[in-house]
Amino acid sequence: MEPVLLNDVHSQLNPCRVRQLALPESSDEAASFISTWSGRVSISGRRHSMGGQPYGAETLCLDTTRLVHVLDFDTIAGTVTVECGVTWEQLIRFLHARQESVAGAWGIHQKQTGADDLTLAGALSANIHGRGLSYAPFVQDIASLRVIQPDGQILLCSRESKPALFRLVIGGYGLFGFVTELTLRLRRRCYLRRQVQSISSAEVFPAFESLAAEGHQYGDYQFNVDENSSDFLHAGILATYCPTDATPAKSQRNLSNQEWLAFLELAHSNRQAGYQKYRDFYLSTDGQVYDSDLHAFGVYLSDYSRHLAARLRTFRLSTLMITELFVPIPAFPEFMEAAAGLLRRAGAPVIYGTVRRIEPDRETFLPWARTRMACIIFNLRMVHEPTELSRAIDKFRGLIELAIVYGGTYYLTYHRYATDQQLRACYPEFDLWLKEKRERDPENKFTNDWFAGVTRRL
Ligand SMILES: Cc1cc2nc3c(=O)[nH]c(=O)nc-3n(C[C@H](O)[C@H](O)[C@H](O)COP(=O)(O)OP(=O)(O)OC[C@H]3O[C@@H](n4cnc5c(N)ncnc54)[C@H](O)[C@@H]3O)c2cc1C
Repeated sequence: MEPVLLNDVHSQLNPCRVRQLALPESSDEAASFISTWSGRVSISGRRHSMGGQPYGAETLCLDTTRLVHVLDFDTIAGTVTVECGVTWEQLIRFLHARQESVAGAWGIHQKQTGADDLTLAGALSANIHGRGLSYAPFVQDIASLRVIQPDGQILLCSRESKPALFRLVIGGYGLFGFVTELTLRLRRRCYLRRQVQSISSAEVFPAFESLAAEGHQYGDYQFNVDENSSDFLHAGILATYCPTDATPAKSQRNLSNQEWLAFLELAHSNRQAGYQKYRDFYLSTDGQVYDSDLHAFGVYLSDYSRHLAARLRTFRLSTLMITELFVPIPAFPEFMEAAAGLLRRAGAPVIYGTVRRIEPDRETFLPWARTRMACIIFNLRMVHEPTELSRAIDKFRGLIELAIVYGGTYYLTYHRYATDQQLRACYPEFDLWLKEKRERDPENKFTNDWFAGVTRRL
């Protein structure tokens, strides 16, 4: 077998040559790869993580693309058991096909926004969040999982059975074993009415609180990203979603691929017009009705950088890199003020940004949300040239530093630019987590580029 060059989908800034790429078709085959391979193993889903987590240099990389069966759907308990490589699109297709015209059908609680072709085990391993107004990270939705250990043994883990391993595997970035299947807790599907308003950053969390109290279940705030405007990071669009008896109108406005690309182009070429047009589009969707399973699905073109280069008539390769910071809610307005100052510096403009509200994760071993948090997401433009990249990296580190100053933290999964001091400040359990890793996997059978980089430096 030839070595294979892999990279992440979104930023394309993490090339990695793996010794071999294997696509197991069953959990037994995955277990056999793991127990017979004498070297190290990495695990990849759809490779959207940008910190080097989904693969490792010189490893056998197990790709989960062929593990896509739905194994069980328990309509009494409201759970579905799937193989690890099932994506959100595949899961929803299954649930909708199986429950056509069923009253009180089961659906999902939360998924990531911004991209849909993401696996459920990738979501579990990063302990993702959606845009629920009163939701903890994804661990809340997991009933149980099966995981292959370094010796090839397959263990069932839940809150009752092997709870310590359950807490490590969720949010464990593929380092505590290969998840072969997981059982997801479902909710009753319903329709949601979107309510959109233009408000300032200072008003966001009081609005989230009062709208949640009125029954709104999901929501986010998309802020002005034009650094030349006095409204930069200060004004934005709040969209929340409340259950309704109404059904979607046939004439509803939805973004097409071309419109999505046009907004992306404007965010690069005419940032003022870009934000204003995007805001006006969103305001025009006020009152529209969405299926609770589908409201977090949207347009995403994985080859957006190629389209963008053609539209901008440039040969300079540029992509986007996401960073996500969490700060205690009372500190949010001040954090945004300070972040605006930092982000106005040269290089790496913000192309898109959004804010969510997260409930604490009291279950996983390495939680990123220890208290109720404001979650702030920035998509920065990364021009693939050394000076531009180093300016961007300074901004990523600066933003993490700001989050720390305000008593916050950052999300491990997006990029690998955090310094070791920042990692330790934001994840005080990190040394204990490493100890668990050493005890459970003394030969580092499961590794990846992010982990290898961190442990090499420590
Ligand atoms: C455009 C975009 C939007 C995003 N939006 C959000 C968002 O709204 N909320 C959010 O929380 N995150 C978001 N993310 C981050 C994303 O959720 C994570 O990167 C997610 O893990 C990607 O899923 P994947 O299938 O691509 O997994 P990969 O990137 O391939 O893998 C992610 C991690 O999971 C591990 N893994 C995968 N499969 C297994 C398995 N079977 N067993 C053990 N470990 C495994 C990998 O080793 C790796 O550490 C976004 C990312 C992008 C690029």
